[in-house]
Amino acid sequence: MKPIVAIVGRPNVGKSTFFNRVTRTKDAIVDDFPGVTRDRNYGDVNWEGVEFTLVDTGGFLENDEDDFAHHIRFQISQAIEDADVIVLVLDGKSGVSPFDRDLIEILRTVTKPVFYAVNKIDGLEQEDRLYDFYALGVENLYPVSAEHRYGINDFLDDLICAL
Ligand code: GDP
Ligand code: MG
Repeated sequence: MKPIVAIVGRPNVGKSTFFNRVTRTKDAIVDDFPGVTRDRNYGDVNWEGVEFTLVDTGGFLENDEDDFAHHIRFQISQAIEDADVIVLVLDGKSGVSPFDRDLIEILRTVTKPVFYAVNKIDGLEQEDRLYDFYALGVENLYPVSAEHRYGINDFLDDLICAL
């Protein structure tokens, strides 16, 4: 079994874009497992010869506030159980939300490695968007742009060291 890296985070932060960017890097095969994990996508990644399975969690029930909160917590608890490494994707464009703070508090209690990817940093000139996130006091904080591939290579180089 390859190590499992799970992507978590609130809707619209760019989880699926991130997943697609990383899994397509090296002709990854993206697989659905209908019925069992309908809301999840699995993709095989080979980065510098290190293989892992990346898991993207889906976006259903996201319109209802209560369902939304419940769903994300469920998503996180599943990831904590199943994954070897967790990636929390944050939105560098919209900034830190109270919900992010909740998730970070939960993730602080996890003994598995956690990586924090601040997405939508579309270039060096947008790195000032990171300051609010630095204030959260977490390690392993990476500016990335899933859309433009900015920062993704550095992120993956460090990620595979945790596998
Ligand atoms: P998810 O709900 O977390 O899976 O988020 P999606 O991957 O569906 O992306 C939500 C929105 O954010 C889409 O409109 C994306 O085009 C946009 N987005 C994702 N990544 C980036 C990025 O790196 N930069 C910018 N500017 N927008 C992004
Ligand atoms: Mg998605």
